[in-house]
Amino acid sequence: MKKTKLIKDFNERELIDLCESFDFPKFHGSQIYKWLFQKKCNTINEMTNIPQKLKEKLSTNYKINCLKIFKQNKSKIDNTTKFLLETHDKKYIEAVSMIDNNRHTVCISSQIGCNVDCDFCATGKMGITRNLSSGEITEQLLIVNKHINRKITNVVFMGMGEPFLNYKQVINAAKLFNNRSGINLSSQRITISTVGIIPKIKQYSEEGHKYKLAISLNSNHQSQRVQIMPISKIHTINDLIKSVWYYHKKSKRLATFEYVLMENVNDSSSDAERLINLIGDLPCKINLIPYNEIDGPFKRPSDERIKRFVKAIKNTNFIVTVRWSKGTDINSGCGQLAILES
Ligand code: SAH
Ligand code: SF4
Repeated sequence: MKKTKLIKDFNERELIDLCESFDFPKFHGSQIYKWLFQKKCNTINEMTNIPQKLKEKLSTNYKINCLKIFKQNKSKIDNTTKFLLETHDKKYIEAVSMIDNNRHTVCISSQIGCNVDCDFCATGKMGITRNLSSGEITEQLLIVNKHINRKITNVVFMGMGEPFLNYKQVINAAKLFNNRSGINLSSQRITISTVGIIPKIKQYSEEGHKYKLAISLNSNHQSQRVQIMPISKIHTINDLIKSVWYYHKKSKRLATFEYVLMENVNDSSSDAERLINLIGDLPCKINLIPYNEIDGPFKRPSDERIKRFVKAIKNTNFIVTVRWSKGTDINSGCGQLAILES
């Protein structure tokens, strides 16, 4: 029989049920969970406290690893490494490790490609092949953990794909990252970035998740957002702002608006003013991302224009940060992830 089921797709509860279904005591489920996500083992054989017969059952029916490193590129300008990973069905995704002072942030993919089709994004040009399972999402982190000798401090769902169009698997993976008896990353160190799928923002708010939420706003008015992000026809900018209000009221947390700065598109002083008016009194953070150029009409603004924009926003009450992307020489900055060569 071909083993296609991935054991890392199971959470602790499901592993317990699995052990019971094989007529083994429940506690082995928790032990297997720890082997997979805390001790980060590579083979079922390594699970020394698991009975041999149970290991055989697991080995016959399940795979433990699903991703292979196809290529690894290290940046020459900063401490960034991009991993090109091959899935079991010979598709490719990317995960990026970025080390900056005490932080080691891993940017992971949630889908193979993306079909949201934002005009300025390289991933958007690929279209979508399929969703990733929670095991495939989690394994990206485990691979980085194994190959980069620095403790992972943060994880961001900002690689390929739209996390809220693969909601269930993304939330399952976030729970795995957060679980104390597993990877044990604080929920405040896990960020999910969405283009703004409104029903999912509502669901996320109602379910009370504590992971940080980032929203890719990128524009300050509806007609322009429709042009550069066609999904705004369905999820309009006003409804998006309302849904973030809803999130704030339910969670009492601050969402972050991501705003990619593109020259002569959305980077003028009046754009800054319109952005401030659009957000109004909504308590939030703003993260400005200078555009990373790919083939296409969009350009990164000059440093002078970027600084002017930052200053205009800083004069208000908003908490503003600028994200200088990492590893742009190896195309691993925001929106540069695309497997065009394969
Ligand atoms: N699909 C999700 C997460 C992946 S994109 C989303 O859109 O939020 C992660 C971030 O990169 C988003 O904020 C997106 O607007 C930004 N981005 C896309 N292309 C970019 C580019 N070429 N330069 C800079 N940022 C980009
Ligand atoms: Fe997809 Fe996000 Fe890129 Fe838009 S910006 S195409 S949602 S990955």
